[in-house]
Amino acid sequence: MGSFKKPLIALLLLLLFIGLGVWQRHLLVFSPWSSGETPPLLAMPTDVSPDSYWYDDYFLVEPIDSATFAIAEPRYAQLNYSYLIIGTDKAILFDAGPGVRDIRMVTRSLTDLPITFIPSHFHFDHIGNEVTFENVAVVDLPYLRDRADGNVLTLTWQEHLGSGEGFDLPMLEIDEWLEPDSLIELGERQLQVLYTPGHTTDSVSLLDLNTGAIFSGDFLYPGNLYAFLPTSHMGEYLAGAETVLAVVEPDAALYGAHRGPEPVIPQLGKQDVEDLQAALLRIKQREVNGIGTFPVSYPVNSRLNILAEPRWLQSW
Ligand SMILES: [Zn+2]
Repeated sequence: MGSFKKPLIALLLLLLFIGLGVWQRHLLVFSPWSSGETPPLLAMPTDVSPDSYWYDDYFLVEPIDSATFAIAEPRYAQLNYSYLIIGTDKAILFDAGPGVRDIRMVTRSLTDLPITFIPSHFHFDHIGNEVTFENVAVVDLPYLRDRADGNVLTLTWQEHLGSGEGFDLPMLEIDEWLEPDSLIELGERQLQVLYTPGHTTDSVSLLDLNTGAIFSGDFLYPGNLYAFLPTSHMGEYLAGAETVLAVVEPDAALYGAHRGPEPVIPQLGKQDVEDLQAALLRIKQREVNGIGTFPVSYPVNSRLNILAEPRWLQSW
């Protein structure tokens, strides 16, 4: 008997160790990347779009039209883009960057109307962190409502991921809950809330019913799409792509939240969403093998890749 015990205990310990590693895989992946501090600002880029102008030495404003502005942070390592969408009565700020600087200075210079902040999702590089907004609206999902204390929602580590850059978990004071598919009235301009999970469970996009443009957050932008994070879900990504495909017009622009290889507003089109849907179906049906171990990279088209968990950890 005794001779069997030691190998058995060693095997159980090994299995426990592997199990812990899999369970805490996101921590294991993020820890080596994390310095616990916000990365140093990049040098001021010189390769900016000719239509853009600097608000200061940090924010770059790129007008899309006279009532729609992309606000870029090209000196922040993640090259974030937020969007100010203005009607005749009010405006929406879709994303706020990491809050390295206060984006409200920029938005105040662009409109006097009341502004509602809507995060595309709760990751630290979109939520503004220390910046406090007068009006905040977030997607109305039952699990978020249940968790909110009054109208105060404290984010979880998995939702925020900001500890790696030294950001505390923010508490959001929510003024408005946005039901998926509901309309936001801005005055002579309407936006529709599209529930587009996949990158995270709490991700939304906004459809501009006046122009057909879609503001897609981290759900879709040129480059590597992150579908391996703690609240990512491959099946939800596919459902999100189908939601966008049901409403996107053939020549519509989709504006993402991170700059791609070109120093311009990150813009994609309907074909990219179709390619994303097709790629997700190929992955689901095991018709394609990805590259790498964790994350696994699957090609979508020449502009897009999906970074996913290994197949045995993917949920569909
Ligand atoms: Zn994100």
